[in-house]
Amino acid sequence: MSKFLNAKYQSLKAYVPGEQPQDQKYIKLNTNESPYPPSPRVIEAASKEAVERLRLYGDPECRVLREKLAALYGVGIENVYTANGSDDILNFSFMCFGANGAVFSDITYGFYQVFADLYGIEATIIPLKEDFSIDYKKYLGLNKFIVIANPNAPTGLALSLGEIEEIVQTNPESVVLIDEAYVDFGAESAVELTKKYANLLVTMTFSKSRSLAGARLGFCIGNEELIKDLNLIKYSTNPYNVNSLTQLLGIAALEDNAVYMANCQKIIETREYVISELKKLGFEVTDSKTNFIFAKTNAMSGEKIYQELKKRGILVRHLSGERIKDYNRITIGTAEEMAVFLAKIREIIEVK
Ligand SMILES: *Cc1c(COP(=O)(O)O)cnc(C)c1O
Repeated sequence: MSKFLNAKYQSLKAYVPGEQPQDQKYIKLNTNESPYPPSPRVIEAASKEAVERLRLYGDPECRVLREKLAALYGVGIENVYTANGSDDILNFSFMCFGANGAVFSDITYGFYQVFADLYGIEATIIPLKEDFSIDYKKYLGLNKFIVIANPNAPTGLALSLGEIEEIVQTNPESVVLIDEAYVDFGAESAVELTKKYANLLVTMTFSKSRSLAGARLGFCIGNEELIKDLNLIKYSTNPYNVNSLTQLLGIAALEDNAVYMANCQKIIETREYVISELKKLGFEVTDSKTNFIFAKTNAMSGEKIYQELKKRGILVRHLSGERIKDYNRITIGTAEEMAVFLAKIREIIEVK
């Protein structure tokens, strides 16, 4: 840290991303990427011409991409905002809507606390219930900026649309942000509710279900006035927040949407198989509606399982929080990758 850093940032604890080894040594089940490559149209869109056009600035409005998203989700283009990953939208949302304090779970996406700290926003932390489900009644009538990952990470559990609606309805004086990074893997989306409630913002990403984590593309859907607020910050910081190549890849991905939805279905099937196999081995596994599972065994600590898997070429995510340190978060890979994972787990558990 230099002596020049603004004093208000000196105690900031930054988000720590999962390991991203740059060799191909591991079966990578640690950061919830898709195991499947981008679709044929996306590969084609990354053309020589597209790279040559990087000489020019892209469309700051991301108009074509937003039109496609609006059509797919049945909303107006004025209800869609695109960004350099959905982290970027979370960032701006805390900046825009957090002035009266923010509310989120004790066990959820770690970035929420980082953004609250970054902007000096007072955070109200609501503990998950013993079974890791969200105690949604505790979110009613707070009128603070509420952020809920649905399904939640790293637990994989989802709230119902009815529960979400009650939260949105009882907090009319504040924004409720539903982070749907994993919604394509089996939860109900709250997008329809954005037509009814002016205080609901739903964020999504191309990083998990659409195989574009490295391209950095996120979007959100909400009332036109909320979208204008986000644009105010965007045009006050970085108008070209989505590069032109990524815009083209995003457009192509939406044209191939059926490919991605079929991939999600494969991941769901693999997930259910892995969950049933782990349960046979004595693991406790949450009822995940995401592309990862959250599992523990009494036979061995979470940390030890993580290390033993790593020795055998498989990376998973171990989080050290007090309530979850016995667990590992395991991204669902291809059926072949998960067969290797299960074989290694059997080996580890038996040897001890
Ligand atoms: C992965 C993830 C994000 C961030 O996605 P990007 O679009 O890659 O920035 C946001 N929220 C949750 C809960 C996530 O797991």
